Amino acid sequence: MQSHVILTIPRLLRRAPLNGVSKGGEHPLWSRAGFKPRSRIQLIRSIAWAICFALLHLGCGATSQTAPATARQATDDRLDAILWQVTSVEYRILAQSIYASAATHLDRALADRQWTALLTQKENFQNLPPAVIVDIDETVIDTTRFQSQMVRDQARFSSRPWVEWQARNEPLAVPGAVEFIAYAESRGVTIFYVTNRDYGTKQSTRLNLKTIGLKLPDHVDTVLTRNERPDWPSDKESRRRYIAQSYRVLLLVGDDLADFISEYRTPEQTRLREAQKYNQWGTKWFMLPNPMYGSWESTLYDFNLDLSREEVSQRKLKRLP
Ligand SMILES: [Mg+2]
Repeated sequence: MQSHVILTIPRLLRRAPLNGVSKGGEHPLWSRAGFKPRSRIQLIRSIAWAICFALLHLGCGATSQTAPATARQATDDRLDAILWQVTSVEYRILAQSIYASAATHLDRALADRQWTALLTQKENFQNLPPAVIVDIDETVIDTTRFQSQMVRDQARFSSRPWVEWQARNEPLAVPGAVEFIAYAESRGVTIFYVTNRDYGTKQSTRLNLKTIGLKLPDHVDTVLTRNERPDWPSDKESRRRYIAQSYRVLLLVGDDLADFISEYRTPEQTRLREAQKYNQWGTKWFMLPNPMYGSWESTLYDFNLDLSREEVSQRKLKRLP
């Protein structure tokens, strides 16, 4: 755009009257451009016109470059979801209420040695030390700053900026999470963080958790990442079973169906049917809201990460009731 404007000025100068030569107009620049002003006043007028035209052109160019980007950001379908989580009292109260309820049920679970949150934990668990399994993102750590960055960049999720964001170590805490964990730890409960952050980011993940005020024990590794072991894929069931070998699991806390059951990567109706099979919700399993992303959203476009944002939006429009 800038080079176009620079080229426009000589073209304007070439369009000026060519007859007559003023002594004041005998500048090599005008001569090379083929411009021969009749007088110094005509030269000044012509230059003023050229500058005005160039500035107008620059102004229009800047507008046409930035306006569509701003418009796309303003109509981004993630905007309300992020702002609800960032600004609303409703989200804060809801998250704190869920954690308050989890704390109440933690007391019941500690008192009842038959209590376990895992369906697979059937025998010889009663005397194991107590543990709680929590997810990390949007369960303990608030990633709304990263989500906002994606809106500003008009980008879909990709691993590189996500890894860079973790490494910058600027996490926020989900309301109520740090207090709940501190309370559970004060009751002798070990907290396990079962996350689908990749094993390659384990150190920055540990640092992120410490930054929001959590203490990680030295005697046991409580941060279990995806791909940390060959049999630890994104489905968290194998990690839950691993913890269940040594601990009585009192509660599960997460923001995604994947934090509780394996049947999350399925069509919408199947997800609902599978979730409703269980009666642990609200007593042993606690779900936090996440309107920004998650398997609920991915299922709307069949978990197809190759689609463009426009294609995803089209799929979502078709899903409207
Ligand atoms: Mg999560």
